[in-house]
Amino acid sequence: MIAEVIVDIAHSDVDKIFDYRCEDALPRGALVVVPFGRGVATGFVMRLKETSEYPPEKLKSVLRTESVPLTQEALMLADAITARYRVPMALTLRLFLPAEMRTGKVSERYKTAYVRTDAVGEISDRAPRQQALYAYLAECGEADGAELRARFGDAALKSLEKKGLIRAEKRRVFRDPYTGIAGERIRRPLTPAQQRAVTAVKTTEKTVTLLHGVTGSGKTEVYLTLIAETLEAGKTAIFLVPEISLTPQMLAQLRAWFGSKAAILHSGLSAGERFDEWMRLKSGEARIAIGARSAVFAPLENVGMIVLDEEHDGSYSSESSPRYNTFDIAYLRARYNKCKLVLGSATPSVETYHRAKQGEFALVKLPERINARPMPEVRIVDMRREVRRGNASFFSSLLRERLEDCLSKGNQAILFLNRRGYSQTVICRDCGYVATCEHCAVSLTYHSDERALKCHYCGTAYKLLPACPACGGKHLGYVGTGTQRVVSELQKLYPHARVLRMDVDTTSGKEGHLRILKRFSSREADILVGTQMVAKGHDFPFVTLVGILDADMSLHFADYRSGERTFQLVTQVAGRSGRAQEPGEVVLQTYDPENYILRFAAAYDYEGFYEHEISVRAATMFPPFAKIVRVMVTGEDEKETLGALKSVYERLRALYERQTEAFLFFNRMHAPIKRIQNKFRYQVLMRLVDGGILKEIYAVCAAEKYKNVLVYVEENPSNLS
Ligand code: ADP
Ligand code: ZN
Repeated sequence: MIAEVIVDIAHSDVDKIFDYRCEDALPRGALVVVPFGRGVATGFVMRLKETSEYPPEKLKSVLRTESVPLTQEALMLADAITARYRVPMALTLRLFLPAEMRTGKVSERYKTAYVRTDAVGEISDRAPRQQALYAYLAECGEADGAELRARFGDAALKSLEKKGLIRAEKRRVFRDPYTGIAGERIRRPLTPAQQRAVTAVKTTEKTVTLLHGVTGSGKTEVYLTLIAETLEAGKTAIFLVPEISLTPQMLAQLRAWFGSKAAILHSGLSAGERFDEWMRLKSGEARIAIGARSAVFAPLENVGMIVLDEEHDGSYSSESSPRYNTFDIAYLRARYNKCKLVLGSATPSVETYHRAKQGEFALVKLPERINARPMPEVRIVDMRREVRRGNASFFSSLLRERLEDCLSKGNQAILFLNRRGYSQTVICRDCGYVATCEHCAVSLTYHSDERALKCHYCGTAYKLLPACPACGGKHLGYVGTGTQRVVSELQKLYPHARVLRMDVDTTSGKEGHLRILKRFSSREADILVGTQMVAKGHDFPFVTLVGILDADMSLHFADYRSGERTFQLVTQVAGRSGRAQEPGEVVLQTYDPENYILRFAAAYDYEGFYEHEISVRAATMFPPFAKIVRVMVTGEDEKETLGALKSVYERLRALYERQTEAFLFFNRMHAPIKRIQNKFRYQVLMRLVDGGILKEIYAVCAAEKYKNVLVYVEENPSNLS
């Protein structure tokens, strides 16, 4: 037989199939070692065939088979991903195998256990340790070598082994990533609303169900019930969450429900732990994969349920090649396995909700919090008025008053800032005016290097404003403060308050954010100041006040989704308040108090927000009514990069000229940030009527091959900088 092998080198030069002679029984998906060039390489068997077009004397043979890591399903997915995103197959296949598996640097761990043999023999009375050891083994059946040595001494162990009374056995050990995490499953009956949601998911004839439930409505319990029933039916499940949601509380809950049947994959694991968790899934010992986006590739067979929690979260789009969307992969798997896919969110993305409204997905709602707990009241503070009154600090007088009240009662508060050190949008601090693009109706971004304002959607540059065009005011400011400055101001105001800070600076390193969350939840601090990270699904029972310091910042972010993002952030962060007995409250500070997005968010009116937003998208032709595509061209050498840009642009323009009606916008330009990490950045920006022509755009970009320049396609990118 001949095996078609993809060699595991993700360099485009070797992105093709190589033929090797092999034995009949070699399965598809096997990881093999083959002669390659002057050495050897590992590769994957994609297909088998009878004959090769290569001359027989040139054909080499597969040297050995390591394992069979790829299932038929994985091969199907790999084909689909490679075709869709036009990336080398070797790169796609890596998604299915953790690096530890491919490199062979990590391996299984074993320990030595001892058991009694059937042999009969005497142990002298003068060897009490041997007697004790022998008796101990009778009691426990078997024991770890290290333990026995510690208890009874090495000599006793060795003598007994020599006498043939005990015997060493090799035992596989799984490195346990959750030592110290335990939880008890509290069995609570589902509420009628939760029960209806479970039934709806199971009975709909649609593959995808969107579970739209307000914060604190008990969505997690719905997912876990669905997963538990799936396991009972003998199938497996995948539970996807944003990385940040894998908190100790969440892990304890999963442990309590599923014990060792759950394998948890997250970035905090060591290589060895990841290897073992993957192996437990592959071997069938663990039957639920829980993790961030890469867990969608979990090596499970017979999948009966896939859950994608917080479906609106930006972390579900991969930012390295292949730039896959987690939903797309989850959907393919659901179709392949004929199982259900549940999307959950308190604030679904506009595109997802649109698809549900159009009938593509089933839609189920959990409109109330568990125990009918009220949503925290949101009070909007007009920061323009604070400025006029001479208060230039981060905190409005209302926020200070509520903060003092909260601290005096011994409760906790969260202060939320949109972005760390963000200072890009220009805002008039007298009237709230924000500069926007004449052509695109998105806010402009300040570029200090050129002293200009730019639109990220069409590239138009505007001169800096000497005064506000709306009111003539001179207090033009760049919105943006840093968490650090907020913390130091807080410490001046409340020297006795214990303040914790959580942002990208303080959460680096293994389990960085978990450490901070743990400290806050064990009440080692009174106030938590942070960025986006504090907005996610945490459950802190003693938080009764949430302050949103700068609601405008994401509102005026230069992105068509900025309204949606703001709505999501405000809703999510507000949802952290008042989750237990005491009612919560929210103070929302803004320079734009009339803004409809903020009004809808303050009223918890998702429907109102959606109806408004979808009509704006339809009128301005933004997704879901159009598709934004950016082709990035980046490289360290400017000349080479420009050369690549020119060539890509010429080919794309040919496409544009042939099918102009498919484009709403087409142009090449500098990327808004011209250089990142010494790489020059250029882009061809397009807005398409629909995705029909995407395939051809990918094909153009895949055809361009450069040694030092990277060319890639982004679809509806979440960041246009
Ligand atoms: P969501 O994910 O929708 O924000 P959670 O799943 O975190 O909500 O649930 C909110 C709170 O309600 C949690 O503290 C959870 O333990 C509790 N809860 C969920 N379902 C039930 C139930 N059926 N009975 C009692 N409490 C519940
Ligand atoms: Zn514009």
